[in-house]
Amino acid sequence: MKDAIENLQDVLARQRAACLVSSYPQLMQRRRDLKEVRQSLSRYQDQLATAMSEDFGRRSEFECKMLDVMLPALQIDHALANLRRWMKPERRRTDWLFSTNSARVVYQPKGVVGVIAAWNFPIVEAVGPMITALAAGNRVMIKMSEYSPRSTAVLREMLAEIFPEEQVAVFGGGVEVARAFASLPFDHIVFTGSPAVGKEIMRAAAANLTPVTLELGGKSPAIVAPSASLAAAARSIAHGKAFNAGQACVAPDYALVPRERIGEFVAAAVSAFQRLVPEPVGDPNYTWMASDRHAQRVSELLADAVAKGATVTACGPDNGGRVVTMQIVTGVTPDMRIMQEELFNPILPVVACDSLDEAIRYITVRPRPLALYYYGNDAGEVARLEQEVHAGGMTVNDWAWHVFQGDLPFGGTGNSGIGSWRGPEGFVALSHAKAVLKMKRWFPIGLFRPPYGTRIQRLISKLWLGDPDPALNISCTHAIRPDCATMQDTTRESV
Ligand code: NAD
Repeated sequence: MKDAIENLQDVLARQRAACLVSSYPQLMQRRRDLKEVRQSLSRYQDQLATAMSEDFGRRSEFECKMLDVMLPALQIDHALANLRRWMKPERRRTDWLFSTNSARVVYQPKGVVGVIAAWNFPIVEAVGPMITALAAGNRVMIKMSEYSPRSTAVLREMLAEIFPEEQVAVFGGGVEVARAFASLPFDHIVFTGSPAVGKEIMRAAAANLTPVTLELGGKSPAIVAPSASLAAAARSIAHGKAFNAGQACVAPDYALVPRERIGEFVAAAVSAFQRLVPEPVGDPNYTWMASDRHAQRVSELLADAVAKGATVTACGPDNGGRVVTMQIVTGVTPDMRIMQEELFNPILPVVACDSLDEAIRYITVRPRPLALYYYGNDAGEVARLEQEVHAGGMTVNDWAWHVFQGDLPFGGTGNSGIGSWRGPEGFVALSHAKAVLKMKRWFPIGLFRPPYGTRIQRLISKLWLGDPDPALNISCTHAIRPDCATMQDTTRESV
């Protein structure tokens, strides 16, 4: 443990020293680095998918590749296409008083970025922030989750082929190592994980005044409006619960469904899930719960809901172990654990909801979710959700696809996170936007210097501030409460 922590400190010191030698990697260098990561992702796709599957016990190879390998590859393509523009210093207007000078913003690398990943999409949560950090010219230290040892080993091997430890380093280890990692004086920390641990990260970072990007979770609602095609909504929501077996931060957590259509919705969702995953126990493409503890939690949550009056409809046979199919829960009440905790599994609570107003009220009195889904065809309702409901992001008539758009930021709000590491917003977050004002030699800056009270200074003041209100200018003592008067008098005397 002591060795592991000393190693973290040593790598940080070496990365910092390297920053001093090469503090601003040029466009060519950054492009080269990103292209090498792109090629390595392609070369290592099978090893990465196998490692992730072993970490889970079983995980869909297609989903491993589609999300953990392809998403970072798409992110690199987007960065390569936009990097020149992102890096270019931005001309800004000077204030009128200073016109004729020139102002611009220069995006400077922050230095060393610490990345802490969760286990559910271990590669994308490590490599995604790393790509933006490298694009912004930083060096990167990555701490993987204790639940992803094999993914950690393959990722470390892959990145060590491209980068020296002074540029990118990958660490495994348990929570104690993660704690030590979060307390290092990075120039920025990107954390992916739960809101509870997010608070610990922020506390640790505060000690070093390290800025943070927190990619957290929450209960992402799916609103099924009366105008929705019930079958299409049920198919999409079932996919959200089948993908990675619901172990996705943006999975639809619960559905808000018109009261009179709940029976119809449940039937449509059961049949949609069974079409997506006909043989859950034997299907190599149906992902397991990541550990016995996670599977056990599903049973506990369902038992709690049933004890409080809910009905559970299982969408397929479970093997009593880590294969868990979608479990639709109706008769839901707010005191059930399934409505209080982020699920992060294939349980789908269905909440009766009679109007959009009721749905908005239901969502907005609860902690702000990471994602919001609307199924329906009413543009006015979509506009209301865009404007009135706080959520990290939103997809209309499907789930999660906003996360795949390279030009969109991806991040939470309130309890679901702070900031975003992706897209142009990510580049800005992992750069320092340095304000640079170049004064022209002949600009009459002397006009702003003492001794004050020159005619031109008085003219400038008059032009910008106008005349003072004489009624306010009689005496400050008018504004002083009687109990303050003594103090004011004493002050005057001492002056
Ligand atoms: P977690 O918060 O338990 O752990 C996340 C990471 O933090 C792990 O690497 C862990 O080792 C580390 N960690 C744990 N305690 C720590 C501490 N005290 N100090 C520093 N690091 C510590 O989360 P998890 O169980 O790995 O992942 C599930 C959560 O992550 C869910 O809430 C999910 O919604 C969220 N998540 C969010 C996103 C997103 O992009 N917003 C993506 C995936 C997962």
